[in-house]
Amino acid sequence: MIDLRSDTVTRPTAAMRRAMAEAEVGDDVLDGDPTVLKLQERVAALLGKERALFVPTGTMGNACGLWVHGKHGTEAYAHDDSHIVNWEIAGMAGLRGLQPRMVRGAPVMTLDTLKAAVRPASKHAPPASVVCFENTHNGAGGMVTPVAELRAMAEFARGTLKLPIHMDGARLWNAHVASGTSLADFAACADTVMVSFSKGLGAPLGACIVGSAAHIDEAFVARKRLGGGMRQSGIVAAAALHGLEHHLGRLHEDHANAKRLSAIVADGVKDVTVVPPDSNIVMIDLPARLDAGAVTTKAKELGVLISPWHAKRVRVVTHLDASAAQIEEAGRAIVKALA
Ligand SMILES: *Cc1c(COP(=O)(O)O)cnc(C)c1O
Repeated sequence: MIDLRSDTVTRPTAAMRRAMAEAEVGDDVLDGDPTVLKLQERVAALLGKERALFVPTGTMGNACGLWVHGKHGTEAYAHDDSHIVNWEIAGMAGLRGLQPRMVRGAPVMTLDTLKAAVRPASKHAPPASVVCFENTHNGAGGMVTPVAELRAMAEFARGTLKLPIHMDGARLWNAHVASGTSLADFAACADTVMVSFSKGLGAPLGACIVGSAAHIDEAFVARKRLGGGMRQSGIVAAAALHGLEHHLGRLHEDHANAKRLSAIVADGVKDVTVVPPDSNIVMIDLPARLDAGAVTTKAKELGVLISPWHAKRVRVVTHLDASAAQIEEAGRAIVKALA
């Protein structure tokens, strides 16, 4: 089976497992695990922020960001097709008492759509306490929001709305590699940023939230309250460090594979619409004669696992464990499944 359901399906390489086995560890809840501290310093420096905090999942990183900025009984501006809205089982409401103020307009948030979502101030309407960005944007097929647009949105959020910004950067690595914009330039457009190690970088788990020292102190409390304080977590941080060292520099291969796969599908099947991939996610929109369930079932019979995104869209994701040759093979199988 060639598994292209997600970039989370990668398994730690032998070298990554060695790095994990050999990691120097301590009790990170008591007084800091040396490998976790090293990772946090590395990630804070890469993203140009004062501090970073290691968390077990991206979802917890986002929850910490919303904890830090959000105020109970207020709104969080978020794109209506964002991960925070669609795939975190209403954590912002359940954990922080926030309701999303949906920024509508596919495929990603822009300055114009953010402006259009702003409520006129009224003592009868909920105020907002935070703005959420997502880059790359998962639901839009790994789309990169260029730094110029992010800067304009950040200026509007901070200057006009007087609101802080949390960025869901689970795949900010991909945005960086695809655009050439530095991680720090992207991160400067937000007050806190979550980055994940278990997507493109191939670690088994782990994410970081970065921000100012004051914000990370608050995120520390949120992590503890959410049950995310971990002890000898250097075992996992070592995998993240290994991923940064050895896999960040190869992400362009995943992007090239996604482009190749999209070309095979677009050439092979005339009545589907392939969203041109900015990074490592290929979204295929289906014509009336097809539905996502049937296509994924057929692809599986042909040896390729892909995801139904919704009834009329399937998602194919390239990653560390799928070689260029496997992408050729998968592309041919997906064409057959679509035919
Ligand atoms: C995967 C993902 C997350 C959540 O990360 P987990 O580690 O799975 O909790 C958040 N945002 C985006 C955009 C993601 O793709």
